[in-house]
Amino acid sequence: MRLVVVVSIAAAVVVGACLALGPGSGSDCAAMAVVGCSAAAAPLRAGLDVASMAATILAALGVVAFGVQARQHRRLAGSLARTSRPRLLGDVPVAVVEGLAAPAVAGLFRPTIFWPDGLERRLADRELTAVLLHERHHQRAFAPARLAALTSIEPVVGLSGFGQRWLERRRADIEIAADAYAIQAGAGRSDLARALLRLDSEPTAVAIAGYGHVSDLRLLHLLGDAPPPKHEGIAVTAALVVVVGLIACGAMAIAA
Ligand SMILES: [Zn+2]
Repeated sequence: MRLVVVVSIAAAVVVGACLALGPGSGSDCAAMAVVGCSAAAAPLRAGLDVASMAATILAALGVVAFGVQARQHRRLAGSLARTSRPRLLGDVPVAVVEGLAAPAVAGLFRPTIFWPDGLERRLADRELTAVLLHERHHQRAFAPARLAALTSIEPVVGLSGFGQRWLERRRADIEIAADAYAIQAGAGRSDLARALLRLDSEPTAVAIAGYGHVSDLRLLHLLGDAPPPKHEGIAVTAALVVVVGLIACGAMAIAA
């Protein structure tokens, strides 16, 4: 059991890293996937149990899904970086991009603040400081990587309305944490809320931590009217355990 988990996770990490970082094409990654699967299958053929196989497959799927998200994100961050020019706003380094709707942080390992050209002239000084502090937190907390992880589990977790609400809450938490950091550093709630309403923009399909992704939860939080947190995380975890258990039992029934 331990051997198969270690071997499979290693194989899955190789495939995920290939998809995320590799200069190779999709077919190169597919070849690596075959190698990874063979490596994982060897100990299974030696008689290891089906439950560990099911767990391994799920783990591998998770890593590969994250790899796909990471690769898409890398392309987006690369395009933004190519069309940007560096600038200092106060003491905050940003990359200025023409035509960007709202500030955004992109880059999984070295997050960069991408800044719409001329936005600083549309914001009051206090709003500008508040937005920069918010983006700084996204940068320091590696928000793009966390969003990519959430997006990669969305096809499974988001199947239920319950799971969708849980994902929405986790995404709102990332924004609320950035607001809390800005407020702690001296930004006013009203400055953040005004900038948020001013910069309303559509969320993108790829995980970037922006400023203008309006979430009702976040706005309520800024206005001091946040609903009490629900223990949805525990319920989602329990639901996932049940699903994994059903898959493992089904696989065992078929194998028997
Ligand atoms: Zn944000």
